Amino acid sequence: MSETLLLADWVVPVSTPAIKEGALLIEGKTIKAVGRQSLFDGWCGKKESFGLLMPGLVNSHNHASMAAFRGLADDLPLMEWLYGEIFPREKRWGTAELVAAAFPGAMAEMIRSGTTCSADMYYHTTVSATLAARAGFRYAPGEGVIDFPSPSFETVEEGLVVSRQLVEKFADHPTVHPTVAAHAPYTCAPETLISVDALSQEYGVPFQLHIAETPDETQIIQDRYSTTPVRHLHNLGLLSPRLLGAHSVHLDEEETALYADAGVKVSHDPESNAKLGSGLAPVPQFLEAGITVGLSTDGPCSNNDLDLFGEMRTAALVHKLHGMDPTVLPAPQTLRMATWGSATALGIGDKVGSLEKGKEADIVALDLSKPHLTPLYDPVSHLVYSAGRGDVSDVWVAGKRLLQDNELVTMDEEASLLSLRQWGERLRDG
Ligand SMILES: [Zn+2]
Repeated sequence: MSETLLLADWVVPVSTPAIKEGALLIEGKTIKAVGRQSLFDGWCGKKESFGLLMPGLVNSHNHASMAAFRGLADDLPLMEWLYGEIFPREKRWGTAELVAAAFPGAMAEMIRSGTTCSADMYYHTTVSATLAARAGFRYAPGEGVIDFPSPSFETVEEGLVVSRQLVEKFADHPTVHPTVAAHAPYTCAPETLISVDALSQEYGVPFQLHIAETPDETQIIQDRYSTTPVRHLHNLGLLSPRLLGAHSVHLDEEETALYADAGVKVSHDPESNAKLGSGLAPVPQFLEAGITVGLSTDGPCSNNDLDLFGEMRTAALVHKLHGMDPTVLPAPQTLRMATWGSATALGIGDKVGSLEKGKEADIVALDLSKPHLTPLYDPVSHLVYSAGRGDVSDVWVAGKRLLQDNELVTMDEEASLLSLRQWGERLRDG
């Protein structure tokens, strides 16, 4: 296997301080060394030069194939948006063909945005997982089990079978890391949640679940079970280190302590929460309690993009604004959340999420020769507050180049956009 030396004005490993005039040696899918360029004086093997190298961004909560519905329904509260606009469209149009047509476009957007891995909670996930595997994109899918008929199953029992098939099919895959998923405590009966958790335990995979997203959800759970969403899950014995609670907006101090004690992970989606007017998760308190927090966009219908650079900036800014405290969520902590935090939340923090010897080479290169990145005093500051997805030039997943000089290498972008446009014509009228 040939080695390649990647040189950069700055290398930002995330796990250690940024390195000026840094270098990264990769062999096959693995990072062999990280350090100053001077360590590799006399190197005569293959080498390439870049502006900045950082670990790939990891999206810890997504519904990627909803790219087909992007922009069809905006400016509505969650329950109205979900029950009035999204569920009916998914019921009518949510076929495997739609996922096959929509997922590649979403994947192209993510790769171009410096995202090397995404979680997904959706339907027909074997289809999207196969497409991700083919493109070399790292992917953590979970079939979204829900109590009413979904686009890919009629009953919860069938949903559990589909979930099991997904996990077994990709159990040993190098870049597809299957999970199980259930929609939410207000759309899933206790027995459904317990069954999905049992699968999670059986296979040792994460359990993705929307939790405490809006005050409406809190009210529904209060009316139905006389408690809050998190206490409801606690009473069912479902808070565990395998549980990944998307949103987790409405938690009080005691519920935060329940999360911390059980080792529950959180996926923070500030732009989706802002767009749907859901509220702001107490992330500084989560981090202080030692809870693992990953960053995410949520689906492209409630954000409406899959851009984690934008999400980092939003996260850092809204928490400062909300707390009227500029010291909250400093840039290094925000970057860590979008990389290592998300990877850990998905159970792959030992594989990816930072540039370290022995980890897999999921790397993003940025072009620094831009007015908005000049001069550069602190690369981590620029990554969170100034850089954007348009600055990404090259992307690797497990050492394989997916984006080279702004060109997608492993997928046909033109064809994927054409099929999304064609579906757009069909979906326009409902
Ligand atoms: Zn979601």
